[in-house]
Parts: sequence; structure tokens; C-alpha cells
Amino acid sequence: MNWEDNVRKVVPYVAGEQPKNQDVIKLNTNENPYPPAPGVAAAIQGFDCDILRKYPDPDVSVLVDALAKRHGLDREQMFVGVGSDDVLAMSFLTFFHSDKPILFPDITYSFYDVWADLFRIPYQVQPLDDDFCIRKEDYCKENGGIVIANPNAPTGVAAKRSAYEEIIRANPGSVVVIDEAYVDFGGESCVPLIEQYDNLLVVQTFSKSRSMAGMRIGYAMGSKKLIKYLNDVKFSFNSYTMDSVAIAAGVASVEDEAYFRETVAKIVATRERTKKELARLGFHFPDAKTNFIFAAHKTVPAQEIFDALRANAMYVRHWNKPRISNYLRISIGTDEEMDKVLAFLDAYLKNR
Ligand SMILES: *Cc1c(COP(=O)(O)O)cnc(C)c1O
Repeated sequence: MNWEDNVRKVVPYVAGEQPKNQDVIKLNTNENPYPPAPGVAAAIQGFDCDILRKYPDPDVSVLVDALAKRHGLDREQMFVGVGSDDVLAMSFLTFFHSDKPILFPDITYSFYDVWADLFRIPYQVQPLDDDFCIRKEDYCKENGGIVIANPNAPTGVAAKRSAYEEIIRANPGSVVVIDEAYVDFGGESCVPLIEQYDNLLVVQTFSKSRSMAGMRIGYAMGSKKLIKYLNDVKFSFNSYTMDSVAIAAGVASVEDEAYFRETVAKIVATRERTKKELARLGFHFPDAKTNFIFAAHKTVPAQEIFDALRANAMYVRHWNKPRISNYLRISIGTDEEMDKVLAFLDAYLKNR
């Protein structure tokens, strides 16, 4: 007998590379190229360090209230955590406690199967169709829960709210988690369905549309009953997930709606322009509603383009996985960054 036989073994999630070299054009982890709202810097610079002596507010009331107000919900319908990864992991632990398999697409956020394995939750992946769209029927059979990203990652494909409503309505026996990490860039949010369906949990994050990946803030919205169960698990795990600095910075971000809208609109404009240029260069891609484009070239293999970009300090993401090995996920940076990448691709594809 060896102690290692009793270790919980998991194959961890692999995050996109964070290069030490700052000269890289970094389009590999869907970070926002613009700074957080000016109020965030002010909140951090003006932060009274004496506050750190004390534990933070376990209910995170000021941030919960700011988010509840922004989304037109009650504070009891709001849950916050250390990035949406923390919120999603907590949701898996809380709501997916059945012997039946949970369902999610075959091509999606690659953390879902990692959490399922970690928590010993059985799961069954449902293949997207050839256009990378979900098929509603796949989610209308017996299951122990459902998790779907809308818009989906890494494909960028969004489905209509009405499609999710059918899935939610067909599953009164399980919780449906909609991961809206990218919804601000053009998806149709399921938040308006919360009042009607108490088995719906919608998860969002400050990491992409609010330029705060480094601060780690995510949140979930759902019925009061659902949020209570989520809080019961959280308070059985770690009462103080959110630190005092993150709480102050988060509130400052939510308070500046104008800046939020302005930066999101800039990214969407850059994305639409990038789509046209990529198409001109011979790439095809599903219509992205995200701050990234999932593109394949009609003749040149993705691995080759990935290597060429990387050798020239331009990082994108590539997965050697079935169905998607010929695609590159290219995050949307500033106009200047995209111009450099597009110019490089133009020259490379002509001269190879
Ligand atoms: C980025 C991302 C998340 C998690 O982001 P956090 O930084 O942990 O908030 C969750 N789901 C999807 C689909 C993502 O792309």
C-alpha cells in the first residue's frame, strides 16, 4: 500500500501561455486590449491598506448590490466569486450531484470536463453540428445537469435565447448553467429568463468585457433558491473568496457603464473589420459574437500558421483536438495589433 493510491488524481486544465516577454502581440487568451475603467485605477490607488487587517465582507454586499442593480435583479439572485472559473467550479459542486451524466458540447470550454473529473461527476458530450451549432434535441434527454457556453468558446458561435429557453423548459429536473463569458460582445443573454425559470443559472465574468482578468471577479445570477444553495456550498468551502481590493475595484468597474459600452463597441468594430480581412486572406470562420475569431485557412494548415506567427512574437491559440485541429483562435486586440498580424499573414501566405 502506498499513499499515492489514495490521492485524488486529475489531469489539470491547461491555460493559454502567459509569456514573460512583454513585446509579444498576445492574442491567445481573449484578454481585453484596453485598460479597466479609470475608476478601477483610482479605487486601487486610493485603497486604504489598513482595511487589509480585517477579513473582507463574506457576503461581498457592495459588489453584489452594484451587480444586482446593473442587471435589474435582487441581491439574493446574485453570487460572486474569484473569476467565473471559481463560480463555475462551485456550481458544478453544488448542482451536479446526480448519478445521471451532465451534458455539454464536444467542442467547448475545456474546463468543463476537468471539473467533472475533479468532482467525479459523470458526463456525456454532445456533438455540435457541422456549423458548430448546438442541437437542441441533444439536451432534451435524461441528464444530471447541463452546462453550455453562449456564445460558445472556442468557436465564437452564439445561439438564440429562445433555443436555450426550450432546453431550460425541457429540463425541470436539472439545473441548466449558461456560461456567458463573452455575451457582452454580441450574444443574447439568458438573464431575462431568470424570473421565469428557477433552474437557470447564468454566469458572467469581469475578465473579458471588463478588462479585469488579473483581478479575478466572476458572478452568477439565478433564482433565490439556486443562489442560496450556491452560497451554502461556498460557505462550507471558503467564506472569504473575494478579497477587499477586488471588491473595491469591481464596484468601480460596474459604476462606469459608459466606459464599458465604449470599449466593448471598439472591440466589436475591430472584430468586424478583422473578419473582412481574414476572409480576404482565405480564412473561413463561423460568425463570431465574441472577442475572438475561430478561423481556418482554406489551404494552409493551422499548425503551420500558428508556428509562423509564434516565431514572429504573435501568439494565438491552437488545439490539437479532433474536429478543430485546423482552426486558430485569434483574440481581438487593438486595431494596431490586428493590423500587424494581418499584414504578417498577408505576406506569409503570399511568400511561403
Ligand atoms: C474565460 C472564460 C471563463 C473564465 O474566466 P474567468 O477569468 O475565470 O472569469 C469561463 N468560461 C469561458 C467560456 C471562458 O472563455
